[in-house]
Amino acid sequence: MKIFFSVLKKGNAFIPGKLRLMVDENGDFFPCEKGETLKIGDVFNGFNYKKVLDLMEDFANIRDEICKDCWVIRFCHTCYIGGIKKGKIDKMTKIEECERIKRSYEIFLKRYIEIMEKNPNSFMRLRKWTDMEKTRYFLL
Ligand code: SF4
Repeated sequence: MKIFFSVLKKGNAFIPGKLRLMVDENGDFFPCEKGETLKIGDVFNGFNYKKVLDLMEDFANIRDEICKDCWVIRFCHTCYIGGIKKGKIDKMTKIEECERIKRSYEIFLKRYIEIMEKNPNSFMRLRKWTDMEKTRYFLL
């Protein structure tokens, strides 16, 4: 477990299979319902810890490289799934996902600014409902 946490500290999303686990009709394990190409074990042999660790290391290495200059980093909730190609983490697939993430945040921020310029109190009700002042969503 210590090894997993040291890789996790490098900027990973989570430990695949720990937070949630999907088990299919054959007894195969997957990190979630979207990761059907990422088999991480099965009911007969248990977890494939090497596969889990490789997945985390590959993801952390790519994120170390591409996230350091990214303006979205404080909002980004990306996980392994968006960077998967043929059952492995793929740098180009991850970069394509990042472009989509950045475009959507660009639209979000433009809309947010437009709304706030017209009415700075626009989100006050939402702020009360969600008690957002205590969370990381500081924009509202
Ligand atoms: S969008 Fe991509 S590069 Fe930017 S923080 Fe998220 S994972 Fe990193």
